[in-house]
Amino acid sequence: MYRVGKSVIAGLMAGGLFLAGSLAAAAAGSGNMVNGTAAGAADIVQETAVFMRDEAEDMAKAAAAEAEAKAAAEEEAAAAAAAAEAEPEEIRLDESWEFADFSKIHDGAAVLYKAPANRKNITIGVNAGHGTQGGNSVKTYCHPDQSAKTTGGSTSAGSIEATAVSSGMTMHDGTPEHAATLDVARALRDLLLENGYDVLMVRDGEDVQLDNIARTVICNNTADCHIAIHFDGDGLSYDKGAFYISVPDGIKNMYPVSDNWQACDELGENLTEGLASAGVDIYGNGSMQIDLTQTSYSTIPSVDIELGNAATNLTDERIEQYAEGLLKGIEEYPFEESLPQQGAEDMQQGSEQSSEQD
Ligand SMILES: [Zn+2]
Repeated sequence: MYRVGKSVIAGLMAGGLFLAGSLAAAAAGSGNMVNGTAAGAADIVQETAVFMRDEAEDMAKAAAAEAEAKAAAEEEAAAAAAAAEAEPEEIRLDESWEFADFSKIHDGAAVLYKAPANRKNITIGVNAGHGTQGGNSVKTYCHPDQSAKTTGGSTSAGSIEATAVSSGMTMHDGTPEHAATLDVARALRDLLLENGYDVLMVRDGEDVQLDNIARTVICNNTADCHIAIHFDGDGLSYDKGAFYISVPDGIKNMYPVSDNWQACDELGENLTEGLASAGVDIYGNGSMQIDLTQTSYSTIPSVDIELGNAATNLTDERIEQYAEGLLKGIEEYPFEESLPQQGAEDMQQGSEQSSEQD
């Protein structure tokens, strides 16, 4: 509708300019032939023509500005509508991305979901831990500089290579860890989308052929943070509570960890605080230093969160509680800002044992 109005005004302006030009030319022509009187008439005609031209130009400018504003609003609405209807998009490893060539398993795809409304333009990488068939028999470098792993676990300290994706443990009720982590990841995805966050589901089904390096590199390049969901294989008979894997001192000077470890630990603190506020028990002071492949290749805030262990009773209510707690932690994280506060605090010595594997 507006376009018609705009073209009419543009037509008026062009017509006005044409008329003014013709009159001025005629007046100028007669002025040449006769003298003063014709020249005076030409002045009047010319002034009128200039006035008409200015009027037309002003109208056209106002109309153009209004049209521009309206077009921008329409574009925004269309983008939101498109996001609401958009099919989830497959995201694959791009070989040109930094560290991509360290990955050994990357035939699979992550899936990007866009929030339908109240869009924050923040993408949360949700990585349901484990779930890569064959990942247990492939090795990848623990660190991009090929230095040795600094803490123990299933892959001992001093190793240069670790399992590309381990199988994970089995819950006491027989549920494999990869199924438990997917249940929580899906609940978290739904809650994030409802709250305006876009979600990169690193593993969107039972299996994804992406090793821990591929998962990390995809998040680095397409998400604002990377949250890997796990349950700890600590062998305990009771649920000891949730904690996050903090960055060990031994890799804080190693690139890219050196640029990023504060952000990782801050996100981890936010997540455990969010979980606590949702009523989830927190283990110890909420963190444990472990040297993980995920951390070692991350260039964005990136955390492995251990929600519980094999003894966790993973009811629907429990899953919802985890999702709500993680959402709270994400909401508190300052995505707009750069790196968080300086200085390491609360450094543990890594004496605790955890079976969490790369
Ligand atoms: Zn795990």
